Amino acid sequence: MIRVGVGYDVHRFEANRKLILGGVEIPFERGLAGHSDADALIHAIIDALLGAAALGDIGSHFPDTDDAYRGADSRELLARVVALLAERGMKPGNVDSVVVAQRPKLAPHIPEMREVLSSILGIPPDRVGIKATTGEGLGFAGREEGVAAHAVCTISVESP
Ligand code: MG
Repeated sequence: MIRVGVGYDVHRFEANRKLILGGVEIPFERGLAGHSDADALIHAIIDALLGAAALGDIGSHFPDTDDAYRGADSRELLARVVALLAERGMKPGNVDSVVVAQRPKLAPHIPEMREVLSSILGIPPDRVGIKATTGEGLGFAGREEGVAAHAVCTISVESP
């Protein structure tokens, strides 16, 4: 059986923070604000995986009120979600995603993001889609107030 999930996340830009997207640190004058490392792309992928498994959302598993997740490395959170699925006989099939950011240019970093994410997801990079688009100057992303990420995924489920 194949299941499909969708995820979406937004983080606002903030001074004196690292910009981390898709598990990769990207040189930029600002980073994203958040309780964890604020990796909006990984958060959207986590929600897509959890959604495909009907296992709630990122906030229910890693609450931002819990000090354990302060500054958390989102790559580790993703690995925990993949393990959670594996316990239930589920594994990622493929992921596709879009990051909306006016700046910086993300395209040069996408190959590394795909490598990082595919190794955590346990699937080849050719099953990890990442696209980047600007906001055409419109909305919060276009005004460079923050970054949005959308993700869809499939997971395969072992028949019982
Ligand atoms: Mg988030």
